This record gives sequence, C-alpha cells and structure tokens, in this order.
Amino acid sequence: MSNPLLEAHVLPPFKSIAPEHAVPAVEAILAEGRAAIALLAEAGEPSWASLPARMEDLDDRLSQAWSPVSHLNAVVNSPAWREAYNACLPMLSAYGTELGQNAGLCNAYKQLEAGSGFASLNAAQKKVVSNALRDFRLSGVDLPEAEKKRYAEIAERLSTICSKFADNVLDATQAWEKIITDESALAGLPDSARALLRELARAKDIQGYRVTLDAPAYIAVMTHADDRSLRQELYTAFVTRASEQGPQAGQFDNSAIMEEILALRFEQAQLLGYGSYAELSLVPKMAESVPQVLDFLLDLARRARPGADKFDISDFQPWDQAYASEKLKEAKYAISQEQVRPYFPAPRVIDGMLRIAERLYGLEIRPSTTAELWHSDATYYEIFEQGSKIAAFYLDPYARANKRGGAWMADCRVRRRLPDGSLQLPVAFLTCNFNPPVDGKPALLTHGEVTTLFHEFGHGLHHMLTRVEVAAVSGINGVSWDAVELPSQFFENWCWDKEALGIMSGHVETGEPLPEALLQKMLAARNFQSGLQLLRQVEFSLFDMKIHAGPALSSAAIQVELNTLRAQIAVLKPPAFNRFQHSFTHIFAGGYAAGYYSYKWAEVLSADAFSRFEEEGVFNPDTGRSFRDNILAQGGSADAAELFRAFRGRDPSVDALLRHSGLK
Ligand code: ZN
Repeated sequence: MSNPLLEAHVLPPFKSIAPEHAVPAVEAILAEGRAAIALLAEAGEPSWASLPARMEDLDDRLSQAWSPVSHLNAVVNSPAWREAYNACLPMLSAYGTELGQNAGLCNAYKQLEAGSGFASLNAAQKKVVSNALRDFRLSGVDLPEAEKKRYAEIAERLSTICSKFADNVLDATQAWEKIITDESALAGLPDSARALLRELARAKDIQGYRVTLDAPAYIAVMTHADDRSLRQELYTAFVTRASEQGPQAGQFDNSAIMEEILALRFEQAQLLGYGSYAELSLVPKMAESVPQVLDFLLDLARRARPGADKFDISDFQPWDQAYASEKLKEAKYAISQEQVRPYFPAPRVIDGMLRIAERLYGLEIRPSTTAELWHSDATYYEIFEQGSKIAAFYLDPYARANKRGGAWMADCRVRRRLPDGSLQLPVAFLTCNFNPPVDGKPALLTHGEVTTLFHEFGHGLHHMLTRVEVAAVSGINGVSWDAVELPSQFFENWCWDKEALGIMSGHVETGEPLPEALLQKMLAARNFQSGLQLLRQVEFSLFDMKIHAGPALSSAAIQVELNTLRAQIAVLKPPAFNRFQHSFTHIFAGGYAAGYYSYKWAEVLSADAFSRFEEEGVFNPDTGRSFRDNILAQGGSADAAELFRAFRGRDPSVDALLRHSGLK
C-alpha cells in the first residue's frame, strides 16, 4: 500500500493523507529509527555528520509524518482521526523514553564532545550537543542500575498520579451543580448567560437553570449575579474542589496526591544530584537559580503593591470581587468589546498584520495557491526577503465543527540544511478559532481576538525568521521554557499602537480606522486592576517555587506555606476554607512545576524588548532588524539571556512591564 506519510514531500499532500496512514507510517518510521540508532550507538569515533546530523534526519523524518497527522487531528477531527492519533501516542512516548535512557547513544555524544573535531563545530552545533547531553543526564542515563530503575519507576508513578490529580479536579468540577427554577435569583445576568445556564439544564433534561463550576457558567454568575448569597455558595464550591473542605469535602480529595507528588519530585531531584526539585526544574531554563526567581517575584510584588492598593476594595468579600470589579469597570470606562468589533473585519486585520511584519523586518508576504489545503477556510502564504523565498505558513482562522478550540502555532517544517546541501525552509501552521463570517459578510473580530492573532503570528515569526540550520535549535526549538513567550507577547504590542491600528483597522461599512477616542478608552481600560492581577500571578508563582524548593511537605505544611505567602503579599485575603492548591493543575498535573513564574518572566522580557521600539520608533527598521538578527534569527542556538543582552544592550529590567501595566 502506498503511504503518503512515508514519501518525501516539500509540503504535506493534505488531499491524499487519510487516518489509516498514520499508524503504519509511525510504526515503520520508529522501526527504521531503532535500527539506525542501534548502529549509531556502536559506530566508531563519532562526528557531527555521523551522529547529531543522522539523529536530526531521523527526527525530521518522524516529524514530517507526525506533524500533518497531529494537525489534521486538531483541525478536521473525526472518530477515525482521533483513533489513529491516540493509537500513535503511546508508541511515540515509549520511543522518547527509550532514547533518553540509551546509554550507548549518550556515550557516543560524550565521545563527540571530547573528540578532536568538536572545537571546529559552529555555536549552534555545539549547543545541540550540550543540550543532548543535558537531556540524557536529566533522563537518568548516568545513574547506577538500581537508581536508574528507581528513576524510571518514579517517572511512571508521577505520570499516573499527576493524571489522577487532574481527574479529581475534573470530577469535582462536574459533580457539583445548582438548579435554579425561580428566575429572579438570576437578576443581573445578561441574556447570553441565562441562555447558557438554561442550555446546561436542558442537556440534563432539567427544567430551569443549571449553575455549574465550569468556567463559562462560573465566571458569568460571579461577574453578574446580583444575589450575593448565590455568589458566596458558588465561590465556596469552586475554591474547595478536590479537597477536604466545602460541599464535597473528602470526595475527590487531592491532599495525599499532592504530598506524594512533592515527595517523588524531591526524590527524583536527589537521585540526579540536586538539592530540590526547583533546582532541577531550572536546569534547562533561562532563570539561573531559585533565589534569583524568588527575588524576581518578590521585587515585582513590592512594585505592584501600591498600584493594587489604589482600589478601595477592603470591605469586600472574595465572592464580591468579580461582581464589583465589573460594575466599576462599566462605570469608569463605558466601553464594550461590541463597540470595537466593526473596526476589525478579519481580512483587513490579517492583511494589516502582514504589512506590519513586512515593514518591521523588511519582508514581502503574499498568499499563494501552490499548496494543498485541508479546508477552504485555510490560506497558504509565502515570505520573501530581497526576492528569495525564506519561509511559508498556513493560516486557518475560523472556528468550525470538528476543529479543536483555542489558538496555536505549530511547526510543519523546520529550517535545516539537508544532507544534499540544500536548505529546507521553515513552514508554520497558524490556527485560530475566530467567529466565522456569516451571510457573506466578513468576520468581525474583538480586540482580544486581534491580540490573539498577533500573539500566534509572533510565535510563527520566531519559527520562520530563524537563520539557524540545525533543526534541534532552529526557530522555537531548544528555546528555554521561560523565554519562549517573548516573541509572541512582544508582537502583541502593535495591537495597542495608534499607527499600527491605522494599518489593521477599518470600519466594516465606512472603512474608517479605529477612532482616537475609542483607542484612548481601550488603553485606559487595558490596565484596569492590573496591580491586583499581577499580585495574584506572583502569589501563585511564589507558592509553586516555594513548595518545590525544599524537602517534601505534608498537606498541612503546604497550607502553611500558602497562608504565609498570602499574609505577606495578597491584597484580598481568601477565607480559611479556600483550597486553591488542590486544583492547581498547572503545577501538579501540567508542565509548570517550579515554572509557573515563566509567564511573568517572559512578560518582563517582551515588555522590555518592546520598550526599545518605544524609544527608537515603533516602526524603526533598524530596531526591527536588530530584533530579527539578535532574537528571531537565533532560535535556541544560544542562551536566551545572552540573546536578550545582545538585543537590549543590558540585562532585562521590569520597568517597562510596570509602566505598560500602569503601575509606574
Ligand atoms: Zn504563546
């Protein structure tokens, strides 16, 4: 049977790729990979060409088959795609674990590093080798046999209980409901929120309204319900999920799981020779040490505090906060997303965004009909620099049935030099879920949606404008977790710039750009309660860092850490029954353990990088070239701190973030 995923193509042949191709292709490629790696690990004196370059070929072959599978599963999902995709996942994860603990392969990398040819490798190549050695080490490859086995056991147990933590949160969220039959209890709720609650009831064959702890229902009620006791009841259920408190006390309790997760992470760190899990987590990150991260967060808290205190909210209860904030915001700024929408027809915004990128980085970007597409909503674009094509991307902007929600950038092809000497150009998938055009009229975006588009295109530019030629550090590959949001958050800044808004906005009927008065209102509302929000982020980040910075803690000791922190920095003191930590899935079930600070860390970098544009001109082509050359072009080929210094001429400063947040 011919399989398009096993043939070489410049771009994926979307029209001929079908779900039944996925499993055989992945099986065949993994088998080829295993056979090739067995030979690599045993070959004599390794060189760049015989080892990392060969590994890159194998990885790229896998990625060229897997990336269209994963993309199609997300954007044209069907039972057949889901089944094919899920069948591949365990095969890929087993292959990854096997590579990480392959001692023969690791030794070959060590020989390469110690060998005579190493000095003549370029900086990106050296970085690839040192990253590979680091990752082998962090997978436990060097440990004595018994400890290696223990490490693998811990990894397996952690993956089970972290997933159990998330399941408990989900189950606790779904198990609670409140049925309301008297509509007067819903006073204050807008029609859209009432419709949502009615729909939630109807889905369960219930008359009336059903309030749940799912985000849309929870947020709607907490923001709009005039009935204070309803808000209090809902708040209590929400902040005690998966704990020993509240209306479901003990039913889905994560207390023991949190203790075990922290204990296993600590043991894992110790096996690898680190004093704490926080130290281990920081090894591949831009931040250098635990004290540095703690200082960074405490400094932010100190600076944000005066701004947060400006709001007169001391008499409020926690369940009043969203409600009172909304009332205050409406009174103060008199602005809604609906007012702004007609100025942002999607085609106008997309075209304007591309013109802005062209101007900033000296590019030419145009649509092309030369690529196969998976859906008529998608468009393929090519990027040129001084007449030569350097990159391409697909943009699939609108929501539709069977398309995964959210917005993201993924790579389709990575930039790299091929064994025959030719260059493989980078290609990106940009996917959003904007409200689609209706009745032949263009889709009208909210300003939030415009910002999302810029954010994802910022990631896309990082992937596509790289000049690195080795895949493992090309584009966003090999970039530290706490620096990867720099180019995306950075590009969002143009959504708030008057001149840029003139390029990307145009009223759907009159073509008039966004009026100055409206922009001023938007800018004023942008920083509403930003001090409070910043302090909340800092509180979560400090909590995450502190509980991972020492030996394992009991559930009671975890609570003490949180209480101590809140006494120190929180403006709104939560009630004693609050068990926020029991549903903190980012750190107990996601990738953010001892890394939640990354959100703020990257925001400092992006704001500070943009401040150079504020100083030199938001469209200054020299500044644009410098950002391109020092950050976007470099990918993961050097440490993020080094690249930042090369662009900014100094270490990052928090001043710009505080100023942009209205706190300075
Ligand atoms: Zn992002």
